[in-house]
Amino acid sequence: MTEPGHTRPMTGPLEGIPLPDLEALPDYEEGFWQGALSHVLRIQQCAECLVFRHLPTPMCPHCHSTSYSWTAVSGQGEVYSFVVVRHPVHLAIREKNQLPYNIAVIQLEEQDGLRICTNVLNVAPEEIFIGMPVQVTFMVPAGQQEVVLPLFVPA
Ligand SMILES: [Zn+2]
Repeated sequence: MTEPGHTRPMTGPLEGIPLPDLEALPDYEEGFWQGALSHVLRIQQCAECLVFRHLPTPMCPHCHSTSYSWTAVSGQGEVYSFVVVRHPVHLAIREKNQLPYNIAVIQLEEQDGLRICTNVLNVAPEEIFIGMPVQVTFMVPAGQQEVVLPLFVPA
């Protein structure tokens, strides 16, 4: 068993924690998850002022338009901020020995302030740093068939 504080990279999505129900999403979130199913990172973009926004919302916070499209972005970005979690906040985290794990906010290259909350894989917690270049990847959590998660790896 890995002791708390032991360093090891995440190599995949967390297992056994709640995931989005793709059948119950509001219309304005579907494009993001449908894109992920095809391994494409699609971000909601206002059809009027062309500003990207994430998390998805029904109305543009800049111009109040309710028209939008789902634009494929490069998946390139950098770590804006992160935390390393060393205490289990869900039973599955402890039962499946998934500590430590990280939660990272990634600044995408398309627009200043366009950020996505995710995990960074394949790098030890002590080696993650703010400004670290990263690239999107897509993985299916163990035991899941229908949800594909956008995660990031060092670029
Ligand atoms: Zn707008």
